Amino acid sequence: MTFDDLHIVEPILKALRNEGYTNPTPIQELSIPILLKGKDLLGCAQTGTGKTAAFGIPIIQHLYLDKAREKGQRKVRALVVTPTRELAIQIAMSFKTYGQHTGVRGTVIFGGVKETKQINAIRSGVDVIVATPGRLLDLMNRGYISLKDIKYFVLDEADQMLDMGFIHDIKKIIAKLPEQRQSLFFSATMPPSILNLSQKILGNPEKVTIKPEQTTAEKVKQSVYFVTKSNKIKLLTHILENDDVHSALVFSRTKHGANKVVKMLDRAGIRAEAIHGNKSQAARQKALGNFKSGTTRVLIATDIAARGIDVDSLSHVINFDLTNVPETYVHRIGRTGRAGASGVALSFCSSEERPYLRDIQKLINQKLTVVEDHPYVDDGTEIPPPPEPQRNRSYRGGNRNSGGGRRPNRRY
Ligand code: AMP
Repeated sequence: MTFDDLHIVEPILKALRNEGYTNPTPIQELSIPILLKGKDLLGCAQTGTGKTAAFGIPIIQHLYLDKAREKGQRKVRALVVTPTRELAIQIAMSFKTYGQHTGVRGTVIFGGVKETKQINAIRSGVDVIVATPGRLLDLMNRGYISLKDIKYFVLDEADQMLDMGFIHDIKKIIAKLPEQRQSLFFSATMPPSILNLSQKILGNPEKVTIKPEQTTAEKVKQSVYFVTKSNKIKLLTHILENDDVHSALVFSRTKHGANKVVKMLDRAGIRAEAIHGNKSQAARQKALGNFKSGTTRVLIATDIAARGIDVDSLSHVINFDLTNVPETYVHRIGRTGRAGASGVALSFCSSEERPYLRDIQKLINQKLTVVEDHPYVDDGTEIPPPPEPQRNRSYRGGNRNSGGGRRPNRRY
């Protein structure tokens, strides 16, 4: 199937051709016809599947076709709510790209930066707002944004929203939406709490599921290195010295850990940058920009900061720390092997992390290839250090990277 078969209007097809897209990804093939008919959608899919275009294209098309009927000043007719600044920026950019020949205009709203530019953008008139919940509510409460004309509403990465403690904000936003609207709800996982929330938003939706197993197993070459915690940095240096690693996104469980890896790599003469919630928005955007342009080959990230990182040529994802949330593993490796490209995901696994590996393999329903040929193989002779003390941190109050998540000992 090609995009031409999906009844998409010419100005959008033109933009897709410019982007070099010819064939829709599975989620696009399934969702676009449903959404063009105006139906609600419950989508179980993660970032990296082409999800943004799956909802972006039909919304832009509706707005474009409605435009002829709309007279006078632009009204905000579409709202996309997503958990992180990075994702919001990424989605807004996709709307701009796909809608560049349609006259549909959008803007992005997120916290942590001055609001003046955002308020001015809204005042100048936009059709679409892509926003994170906190700043959106703030601007709504102060009368800068009204949702009364919203016809298309997307709640993106719903599971992450709940993990990050946004449930009350989401409920307040939903309460302000008009009854008559098309609603789209996306989540990488569908536990009961998420299904419950979806029922509050959607009316009799069509369902589309893109299984993580399909997106990961088929495209990404995954392997695991057994290594002691103390040898991980040496192993990372060893791997990064290999020329095949053109660009690597390295996942660290904690912000402190991410900074430490950058420092240690620097000592070994490998330039790397870190991206996490303690960095200012400007510093995060700069690090991301350097990584995208190839100036920085290695980016160290915590999970939440990495959401929305969209680098087409990313060659390697390296799990410096394994995650204890198997779905997060799927999110992580989805950063490589995007939209048909093949990628490589390497995981470092210390003896303490073996149970996490078991959970991950169970979820993706496959065993990772064990790499035995490396200089730091954990032969089980080193006594593991005592476990780190668990700190209890509350999520709100500006620290976006610690979780009130499903698993009590989850830290970023
Ligand atoms: P997303 O899941 O929306 O974050 O998209 C993942 C990546 O796939 C982005 O880099 C998109 O630009 C790219 N992409 C989305 N749809 C297609 C397509 N049909 N063909 C090629 N690339 C695509």
